[in-house]
Amino acid sequence: MPRSFNIQNKVGLLGACLALAGADAQAGPPWRVDGGFPTNWSTLTVETRTLGQNLHFLHASGGNSLALSGPDGTVLVDPELAPAAPRLLAALQKIGADDVRFVIDTHYHSDHSGGNAFFRRRGAIVIAQASARARIAAGGHSIYWNQTSPPGAPDALPTLTFDRRIDLHVNGEDITIFHDDPSHTDTDSIVYFHHANVVHTGDIFLTRLYPYVDVPAKGTIDGYFPVLDRVLAMIDDRTIVIPGHGTPSNKAGLQAWRDMLKIVRDRVAGRIAEGQSLQQILAAHPSREYDDLWASNRVGPDDFVVMIYQSLTGKRLDWQPKR
Ligand SMILES: [Zn+2]
Repeated sequence: MPRSFNIQNKVGLLGACLALAGADAQAGPPWRVDGGFPTNWSTLTVETRTLGQNLHFLHASGGNSLALSGPDGTVLVDPELAPAAPRLLAALQKIGADDVRFVIDTHYHSDHSGGNAFFRRRGAIVIAQASARARIAAGGHSIYWNQTSPPGAPDALPTLTFDRRIDLHVNGEDITIFHDDPSHTDTDSIVYFHHANVVHTGDIFLTRLYPYVDVPAKGTIDGYFPVLDRVLAMIDDRTIVIPGHGTPSNKAGLQAWRDMLKIVRDRVAGRIAEGQSLQQILAAHPSREYDDLWASNRVGPDDFVVMIYQSLTGKRLDWQPKR
């Protein structure tokens, strides 16, 4: 079972495709340009990698996917953006995993749940936390991403919902899906494959991208720590940790992410406690030493700090990144 990876896949969120780097207001280079999601739907390449017996990592366009195949049918975690679903199915066919019986959405964002309708029409049961179903059904507008999602069609909605935890016992695997208090959104699920020792974190963890805290969907920076600590306590040094976007990682990578979030969060909190304004906090550049690794045009240093500031103060700033 391979335990190290070098998968160069695109990272991004919600399908906003940006052309230019958003230069930081204070100083420094324009941040790494992330091209967002590929949209060459008919020729889209699907990255596929075997993680263990009948368990595969896949990435087409959107979030990262996992597929567990076997006699009970395939379990697919995160069916990515809707137009990518046919390519995802073609990739699943190549590895003998196209009998998709269960889809699990790690959260409501369309880059993770967009393929729901495609797989539902082929007979899949779509499992998600109850709030994810409600948010997909409602649709909405993201000021941050300048993107509108229409209300979800009936066949795009999850068919089986849960509140805190549900377990799936198929193909000789025990899969625990659990939801904690809001962090990235109020719809997030962690998906843990016990025997394979693989966990999909959804967007609670990203490699090479600062978090997008979906404040309008009740996301909050302080919610990240309890759920990240819960995952860290569950896993070991051999666990493969699949982030919502970016390269598969491990416990050390997840710990480094958690530590970075906490340090930057605490710096912002300290300055708020001193009575500093948002402009003063931004000028202090509290994420400085982490920017080379995690900042990009999609979530730059200022964007990250503003999301923390909004979380801690309860202020809604309707912030839009400089693009
Ligand atoms: Zn997301």
